[in-house]
Parts: sequence; structure tokens; C-alpha cells
Amino acid sequence: MEKVLVKRLDGYDTDAIQGFVSNATKVLDTRPKPRAFIKPNLVQATRYAEHAYTHPEVLRGTFRALRRFGAADRVLFEDCGLMVPMRYAYRKSGYARLCHEEGVHFLNLSEAVHDATIKVQHGQIHEELPIPSILAKDGIRVFVPKLKIHAQTDISGAVKLLIGLIKRSLRLEGHHYDLDRKIVDALEAYPPDLVIIDGITLGRNGAGCPDPYPLGLLIASHNAVAADAVAAHLVGFDPAKIDHLRFAAERGLGPVDLTKIELINPDRVQPARPGQYKERKINGLNPHIRYFEGDVHDGKRCRGGCIGFVAESIHYLNHYHNWRKNEKVNFAAGALFWLLGQLPSQERPRKLGVVVGDYKGDIPDEYRSNLVFVGDCTSAKDVKPRVHLKGCPVYMARQTFEFARHSGQLNPYLDVIEGLPFIRAFLEEKFMKAWNILTHPLRRNR
Ligand code: SF4
Repeated sequence: MEKVLVKRLDGYDTDAIQGFVSNATKVLDTRPKPRAFIKPNLVQATRYAEHAYTHPEVLRGTFRALRRFGAADRVLFEDCGLMVPMRYAYRKSGYARLCHEEGVHFLNLSEAVHDATIKVQHGQIHEELPIPSILAKDGIRVFVPKLKIHAQTDISGAVKLLIGLIKRSLRLEGHHYDLDRKIVDALEAYPPDLVIIDGITLGRNGAGCPDPYPLGLLIASHNAVAADAVAAHLVGFDPAKIDHLRFAAERGLGPVDLTKIELINPDRVQPARPGQYKERKINGLNPHIRYFEGDVHDGKRCRGGCIGFVAESIHYLNHYHNWRKNEKVNFAAGALFWLLGQLPSQERPRKLGVVVGDYKGDIPDEYRSNLVFVGDCTSAKDVKPRVHLKGCPVYMARQTFEFARHSGQLNPYLDVIEGLPFIRAFLEEKFMKAWNILTHPLRRNR
């Protein structure tokens, strides 16, 4: 029986988090090692996306508990969402300051040389995954995901977390109707020794820019599937109906059946009502954008590909608009926003239709002249799109940019306040990546 611990905690109290992690290592009988590799969930971080990543205090509590547990050498590793420089997200999330204060080394996967390979024996999308060789060394692997309700996979926890381990150049391979299998490949390649799920604030309606909901939970286990199965159950899902968990269980990577999990729940946390935290329907996420979905790939609903990214992008634009409406900016930023036509008062939204898949239905007249087709498999009868975004899938950042452009909504990628640090981080990252590749043979031979 895999053990899963659940604790109620209503705020980010570092000492309480450290105590929970220390207790988890004892109850779960974790084997101490002098080194720990810690994987957070950091999709992106901006001033308007504060809930897209594991809370820094959850990491701080985990770092301290691991140090007391004997892991003097602690390495945080991550690669965030595509189109976001990892250095930028690392700084904006507060992780840079946190690692400095806690003496934790950061391994930026976006810059590192992936000089080792892990075989995936039962891999269905990936037969092997390249990683930086340091991650293959002996150490405790600790996953610290942020719990989110997710448009592509129902929930995002310890299993989905591993998308961030996959090298950027391979990230979109199989990221469509086979996403659930791709995630399980990564879990098979790199399973954790300890999982600490940050469910103190639940993220809803999009992994890249979620709405926060105070859930007040911490969850721990040795097993990623068991931890996620309990998390799913507690937020009102049937874990056996979540594809990536079911596939992982079928591959023998952990139990999804709650009767095979020993739940240690001293606070008697009760599960939510079924559907209580379910993702909202795409057509309720943005008043200016209407979504039309046709058949995709023999009737498989491609949630893991363009469809999930459409839901994320549409929500993102609406969230950004509402956030900017209430923001006070200084004169210089206001002037730059004005020059780019990005002040809320300059917004001129118009109706936009978005089509995914082979759509055979009618499209109302008001949308016919302003349509965006998304994905290689998309077509619709008797209409011509303004633009057809090609790709399989078309990733979220590209969709968001084009939807903003064609719907006349404020564009988060033209945000002048985030822009300068974003560009700086982008250039630094390009330089460091090239430098690491050039100097890698020298360092390896040392
Ligand atoms: S192009 Fe079609 S099959 Fe490919 S990810 Fe998009 S919706 Fe899925």
C-alpha cells in the first residue's frame, strides 16, 4: 500500500510546512541522501500571474526540512513554459532570492547541456529523454508541484509536473491527443522519491494564469500517482477517470485505486463535491471570443493539444484585461502603453471566432469575417480565416498573441512593464546557453 499524508494548512506558514515535510520523511520512511534534486512547478511568473507556480514558502519549508534531513547539497531544477525565458520566471517568482537565501543551487534546464539520456522502457511518445547528467546522479528526487485544475489533463500535480523536465525542443512532440501518454513517459523516466503537493491555494481555469482558490491542503507521498489520485479525489474528481493517472497505473507506476492507498488524514479533510472545481466551458471564458470545435483525429478530442491551449489563451486574455483595468501605472509606463495602443481605454474589442478541427457546423455571420483557424487539422466549410495558425499543436503563447491581435484586446506580450526584464532575461539565456555548449567539453574533462 502506498501511503499518502494529507494536512490542512490555511496559509503559507513556513515552519508548519517544514514540519509537515519533516514528518512526511519519517512517516514515509524516506532514505536520507546528501543530495536532493527538487522540481517545482513554474509555468510562468508575472505581476498578473501570481498563482502559476509553487509558492516560494512551500519550497522554503521543503528546502529547510531537506537540509535537516541530511541533504546539504540541494539543487532546484526547472524549465518553464515555452516562450518564457526561464531566467525571467526564476526572478519574477521570487525563486532567485529564495535560492540565494537558502543556499540552494539552481539548475536552469533551458540553459543546461542535456548530456545524459534516460531510456523509457515502455515509452509511447519518447523512447528516451535527454537530461543534464547531474540529474542522473544519486540523490533524493523531490517533486513540489502546485495543484491546479487543468484544461488539458483535469488536474496538474506531481505527474503532470514532469513536462518541465522535457527538453524544449521535444516539448511539443506528442503534445496533442497523446499528451497523457507523453506525461507518463516522463514519469517512467524520472519517478520521484518524495512528493509534496502545494494545494494551499488551488489554481483554476488555466495553468499559465490560474485563478486562485483557497483550498488549504498539503499532500505528501513517495509515489506521484498515489499523491495525485488523492489530490484529484479531494478536489472532486474520480482519479480512475483521469487519463494520465489511469495510464500511469496501467504501466505499474502507482495506484489510482483509492482502496490501494493508505490515507493518513489526521485533520479529516473531506473531498469536494464532484464537479465543484471543474474547469469552466471554453465558451464562457471570454465575452469577445466564440469557439467552434470540429472533429479531430478520428474523433479523439484533442484536449492535450490546440483545444486545451485555446481554453488557456482565451482565459488568459480575459484575466489580463481585468487585471490591467484595475492597475495604476506611472507616467512613463502609461506613455509607453499609450504608444503601443495598450491602455485599457484604447482597447477596441471585436468579435472573434476561433475554430479547431474539421468544423462542419454553421458559423454565425458576426464571426465569419473575423476567424482564426488553429492547428494543422483545422478546416471549415464556406469560410476563409483571417489567419490559419499552423502547427500540431499551436502552443499557447502564439495563440494568445494572435487572439489579442485579431480580437482587439489588450496583449500581454506587449506589456511594457514586463517587457524590459523579459528581453534582458531572453538575451542572457541565449548567451549562457551558447556559452555552456561551447565550454561543456572543457568542464566535462576536468
Ligand atoms: S493540429 Fe489538430 S491534432 Fe494537432 S494538436 Fe491541434 S487539434 Fe490536435
